[in-house]
Amino acid sequence: MSTAADRARSESPTQAPPRLDLRAAAGSGIFEYAPAPESVRPAIADRYGLFINGRFTDPTSSKRFTTINPATEQTLAEIAEANEQDVDAAVKAARAALPAWSALPGKERAKYLYRIARRLQERARELAVLETMDGGKPIKESRDVDIPLAAAHFFHHAGWADKLQYAFPGREPKPVGVCGQIIPWNFPLLMAAWKIAPAIACGNTVVLKPAETTPLTALRLAEICAEIGLPPGVVNIVTGAGATGAAIVNHPGIDKIAFTGSTEVGKLIARAVAPTRKRLTLELGGKSANIIFEDASIDQAVEGIVEGIYFNQGHVCCAGSRLFVQESILDTVIAKLRDRMRTLRVGDPLDKNTDVGAINSKAQLATIEKYLESGAEEGAERHDCGSGELPAKGYFCRPCFFTGVQPSHAIAREEIFGPVLAVMSFRTPEEAISRANNTPFGLAAGVWTDKGSKIFDTARRLDAGVVWLNTYNKFDPTSPFGGFKESGFGREGGRHGLSAYLA
Ligand code: ADP
Repeated sequence: MSTAADRARSESPTQAPPRLDLRAAAGSGIFEYAPAPESVRPAIADRYGLFINGRFTDPTSSKRFTTINPATEQTLAEIAEANEQDVDAAVKAARAALPAWSALPGKERAKYLYRIARRLQERARELAVLETMDGGKPIKESRDVDIPLAAAHFFHHAGWADKLQYAFPGREPKPVGVCGQIIPWNFPLLMAAWKIAPAIACGNTVVLKPAETTPLTALRLAEICAEIGLPPGVVNIVTGAGATGAAIVNHPGIDKIAFTGSTEVGKLIARAVAPTRKRLTLELGGKSANIIFEDASIDQAVEGIVEGIYFNQGHVCCAGSRLFVQESILDTVIAKLRDRMRTLRVGDPLDKNTDVGAINSKAQLATIEKYLESGAEEGAERHDCGSGELPAKGYFCRPCFFTGVQPSHAIAREEIFGPVLAVMSFRTPEEAISRANNTPFGLAAGVWTDKGSKIFDTARRLDAGVVWLNTYNKFDPTSPFGGFKESGFGREGGRHGLSAYLA
């Protein structure tokens, strides 16, 4: 029996086969991938203690809080809440370990860092899954970015430990002392590595506090420190929320504070530290600009811009959350942006095909939603993207971009920390630079152009600690990272980062 389609084909044999409409195909689900969930499930204890002086101990307060999986809202573990007394015990352990650790020859300290790095690599899969479960980021990011980079930071700083006098000729490098380190939830293990690796390579000892919503991988790192035989007290990890952080900041036995987090808390810390002899580095918020000139390779630029805003659900202090497009290519860029962003798969972070995972917490989702409302109220037009239904449970947000944005709109001025992009246009390079710099922040920027001279001229005039040229969100332990203005001061990575841990 011949069908109508067969008949049509035989009636017009010379007609070219219909072209496959890729856009319609993606929308119709032809290219939907089968689920590819990560099969490993790391063991998670019911409750965790504080890592002080080389072993896990119960908090003196007996207070605990829970950490949950933001993609399922299920409780993962109970976490100890360190009070002032616990922080004091950690600082005392770090102080007691300092003389022997700082006196150790650099090449001996390096061996411990190499061991940590190798152990991170050996346990990479378990750590990646744990990071995704605790924080909500897609497994492909924790697997390909967070954990390998964390190991790379230990390898890199292991290499410096016995070469500090060559890094800073003419200066006799000495450790600062006991370092209090407070980190956020967006890159939990990686931020711990950024802080701990240079500190201990330079002979300091450490009291580190992970964020309250993502403590699990830092606690695994504590286990690794014990496993590889790091001398007790060199690394202490205390868990808790803001009050625990404040106890570290205010402890008189701390010589240096290194903080990564919100500008609001950064300002509190700067005030608390100002009348003391403590040294301070701050890596705070951002509202980074991506600038596309009309001579840029547009497809390449759109790929970088999309990655700059949806990477880690936009939970990146250097996320390219403001996009400035030269007016002549605005319509083309918006069309391409819409096409590319609608293919992003939002959903189960443990699925290997997921591009956009869960928002880290209910509170953060509420913050993002508040900005989405304010964008619409102030008159911008929202374009929702991402394919598929959002999961019924968990904290999810569809990536989106706004057009018709004015520089005065809150979505163009304030850090959202979510997958929300504000698109604006400019006519001349001068205008692009002045609009990009018109922000209290100064963390990062991206410039997209084919012209080398324009690259260097623009990069030089942007008030940003990091400027990526024809690329975005590239991190490497050899490259210093840090901000200007309200994005903080001090650098992490490279020789500049080492310098912050030497007296
Ligand atoms: P975010 O808005 O990204 O959650 P926060 O600045 O609130 O950033 O948190 C970053 C880190 O700072 C977390 O580890 C948090 O517990 C800690 N923290 C929060 N409040 C304080 C404070 N007053 N003093 C010290 N640390 C704090």
